[in-house]
Amino acid sequence: MMPGPSQDNRRESGADSPIGPVRQAARSLPTQYCEGKKPDMPPSFPLPAAMVRALELARGAAEAGEVPVGAVVTRDGIVIGEGENRNRRDNDPTAHAEIVAIRAAASRSGDFRLSGCDLYVTLEPCAMCAGAIAHARIGRLYYGAPDPKGGGVEHGARVFSQPQCHHRPELYGGLGEAEGAALLTGFFSARR
Ligand SMILES: [Zn+2]
Repeated sequence: MMPGPSQDNRRESGADSPIGPVRQAARSLPTQYCEGKKPDMPPSFPLPAAMVRALELARGAAEAGEVPVGAVVTRDGIVIGEGENRNRRDNDPTAHAEIVAIRAAASRSGDFRLSGCDLYVTLEPCAMCAGAIAHARIGRLYYGAPDPKGGGVEHGARVFSQPQCHHRPELYGGLGEAEGAALLTGFFSARR
């Protein structure tokens, strides 16, 4: 029997889950990601529902005059927490989308750790949020646009690469990158 390329591309049994197919398509950031290597995603690949929701949240943040970033925490494909930037509304410098989503998910779980959960966020997390993601023991981090100015995953502090970081999630970058970046570009150009 001739081995075909599709054999390396098997679907998980949970392919009906909204995030099932993503795990095969999203490419894990290689270990040398900190050297600026960019993951590539098929441009036409449908976004998972959780990232679509994160983008909706980001749009809501923009409408409220906040920097448009949205985040969703899922467990077994079910949304257990979501958030958008709320710094201005809450007068809270820590109210980044990821922190808001992690707090909601942990509160709902009744557990300060979110082991095995996935976090979807429209922008590369900053160092503060990367630290919170490690503390929360998030299993997989999916993010959209890279953030050379404020990111702390593949830029800047590169939190997960530091020996003091005791938990490193699986990293998948570039998911919904174009959509997430367009929201930010639109937001900042409108304010100029
Ligand atoms: Zn942040």
